[in-house]
Amino acid sequence: MPDQTLPPALRRWLPSLAFTLVAILVLWQSAQQTWNIELQRLQDQATNELLLHVTSLSGKLEKHEYLAELLTTKEDLSHFLRPEITSDELQQLNLVLDTYRVIADVSDIYLMNHDGFTVAASNWWRADSFIGQNFAFRPYFQLAMQGQQGRFYGLGTTSGARGYYFSWPVYFKDEVQGALVVKIEIHAIEQPWRDPAGELLVTDPDGVIFISSRPEWRLSTITELPRETLQEISDSLRYAGRILRPLPVMERHQIADQAEALTIRMNNNQARDYLLLSHPMPEAGWQVHMMKELNPVRHQAIIVSLLSGSALVLVTLIGLYLFQRRRSLRERQQWKEEAHRALQQAHDELETRVAARTADLSASNQRLLEEIQQHERTEATLRKTQKELVQTAKLAVLGQLSASINHELNQPLAALRSYAENARTFLTRNQPETADSNLEQILLLTERMAEISAQLKMFSRKSGDQLVPVSVQAAFDYALKLYWNQFQQQNIEVIRRFPAQEVFVLADMVRLEQVLVNLLSNALHAMKQAPLRQIHLCTEFLQQDGREWVQIQVWDTGSGIPPHQLEEIFDPFFTSKEPGQGLGLGLSISSRIVQDLGGRLEAGNHLQFQRLQDPASANSCTGAVFTLYLPACHPENSHQETLHG
Ligand code: ADP
Repeated sequence: MPDQTLPPALRRWLPSLAFTLVAILVLWQSAQQTWNIELQRLQDQATNELLLHVTSLSGKLEKHEYLAELLTTKEDLSHFLRPEITSDELQQLNLVLDTYRVIADVSDIYLMNHDGFTVAASNWWRADSFIGQNFAFRPYFQLAMQGQQGRFYGLGTTSGARGYYFSWPVYFKDEVQGALVVKIEIHAIEQPWRDPAGELLVTDPDGVIFISSRPEWRLSTITELPRETLQEISDSLRYAGRILRPLPVMERHQIADQAEALTIRMNNNQARDYLLLSHPMPEAGWQVHMMKELNPVRHQAIIVSLLSGSALVLVTLIGLYLFQRRRSLRERQQWKEEAHRALQQAHDELETRVAARTADLSASNQRLLEEIQQHERTEATLRKTQKELVQTAKLAVLGQLSASINHELNQPLAALRSYAENARTFLTRNQPETADSNLEQILLLTERMAEISAQLKMFSRKSGDQLVPVSVQAAFDYALKLYWNQFQQQNIEVIRRFPAQEVFVLADMVRLEQVLVNLLSNALHAMKQAPLRQIHLCTEFLQQDGREWVQIQVWDTGSGIPPHQLEEIFDPFFTSKEPGQGLGLGLSISSRIVQDLGGRLEAGNHLQFQRLQDPASANSCTGAVFTLYLPACHPENSHQETLHG
């Protein structure tokens, strides 16, 4: 846990900072470790190779080390150093030396007198033969003259080639008379060098490189030499007066006991780092150096640190992923638990609400049920009341009709009586034909009375519920028959305007007749005082609201309806008739009946209509118009049986 006392910004960055530091440390450590390991490996490899080269070089030199001594003991060389020696004898020696040279595979073998002049040489045949040349300045001659074995390396003064010289004193009676010299060419013992990432160098004790796998470094110095040393080298003519320049070392430092790191500028001006290992070759007085490029070690260190870095990043990413996953799992778990809790809570709330709502609904349902039952009861009562009212209205009409019915029945009754009396009289007078004609009249009268009685019965019967095609003309016929006598008594003209074919509406015959009877009854009443007494009955088809209707009009030339009463006349018990004359139920029941039949009943006044019909009598009459709309019906399309009045 980050320290709470740290500033928040630092606390937030602390893990990243710590991770970065650890990452740098790990990378640095892995790079360092790799560097050390690889360096050690390179060093071990270079040491091995170096020792191999040292052994090989030593072997190559030792191979020729005893040649000079051997030849001085085998041949009586002092003989050739005497003043009286002839040129033929010397030529003999030249040939012998050349033979040895070939056998021993060396560069040159030559004999020097005590003054340093070459008296015989294997290269006697060459233009630059050593014969006659003085090499007294050479240390190998001086050492031999002191009775010692001489060794020397340097550039040949005549050939300019790098050579290694072995010398041995030539004695005569225990006195050194001269020296025999065997010369090996260095390039013959130079190692074939194939390592592109390393160099092999051999330096003399002054640090002058005279063997090198890289030719441009030959006769350079491995360190910068003091002026005096350079002068001494120059004086010795060891390197034939060549200018010895130091290697272009840019940087060097010791990295182990026997190991140095060098940075050398190469010919292409690029710097190259080397590991430098040295090993002495005491018998030759040389140092053998092995140089191995450090770049592969550096690359290895970089690769390993990159790999470590990648591994670290990978591990970190995996760690972060696992951490994140665990955290998201935990969060998901928490979220699930919270969601579950919330769901549970919502569920509980919902259940509570549903329970409350259900209780409300049950209560209101109960109330509704009660209301429905109440309505059903009310409706039943209403239906009953309506039926009773219809019946009452019928009876009312019957009551109104009773006077005329009375008259209608009394007249035939009186006639019956007189016809019966007359028939008896004629029978007693034995006039049966005349009596028969009276009886014929009696029969006609009884038929007439039966017809009236049948109509009244039909009017008072209760209606059915099923709607059927009903002929409008037939319904009018029936209604008109009821009032026929009264129309005649009051001089009322009935004018029909019906289509040629029979018009059918979907209705109930009894109820339609009841409506028409009521309308005719009202018209009759309205025209009591009217000067012009006409009832117009019109029927026609009508298209409205995409349906086919039958429009039935009953209009009279009576008093008309005051406009303010046009709405009221359909109200139950509205009547303008004198008490005892009307109940005010006819129109309200008729309107209800028409609605039940799927139509409507409208009232109006027809002054304008009258004018249109008969402009000449425009001022003489007004009157009411009752219009009935009922659904048209074509019985040929219907399976119902057509009822006629
Ligand atoms: P009632 O005939 O018993 O009065 P209705 O409901 O049939 O009852 O008629 C109500 C009223 O409508 C009548 O009292 C009358 O004032 C008026 N009325 C009905 N038909 C006509 C008509 N053809 N002409 C003038 N007024 C009418």
